[in-house]
Amino acid sequence: MKLAFDIGGVLGKYPGVFIPMISALQNGGADVFVITDIPEKETAQALLDKYGYSFASEMILCADFQKYGEHCKAVLIKEYGIDVIIDDHPGYCADSGCVSLFVWPDPRVSYEAMEI
Ligand SMILES: [Mg+2]
Repeated sequence: MKLAFDIGGVLGKYPGVFIPMISALQNGGADVFVITDIPEKETAQALLDKYGYSFASEMILCADFQKYGEHCKAVLIKEYGIDVIIDDHPGYCADSGCVSLFVWPDPRVSYEAMEI
């Protein structure tokens, strides 16, 4: 099972929820990726480090929004055979081509986690 999490509004918003969830998924044998539309992997890695996540570089996939627009994540989902994505952008969920779990943008919670 391959899962892929978004950063903005997902991993960056709820590290207190997703750090233990990802650990449990990995311990259960899942391959956990990050798919972001942040263009530079170094920037994505730095953000993930700041939020307290620990992802190997090869598990961080940067979608090419400039080239593919809202289809950019679907390109990677197909290329990597992702089974489930977790994202807060309706366009990415609708176009995923796999099972998508939508994270609603709760306005009471900061877009970027404040507990860091
Ligand atoms: Mg997002």
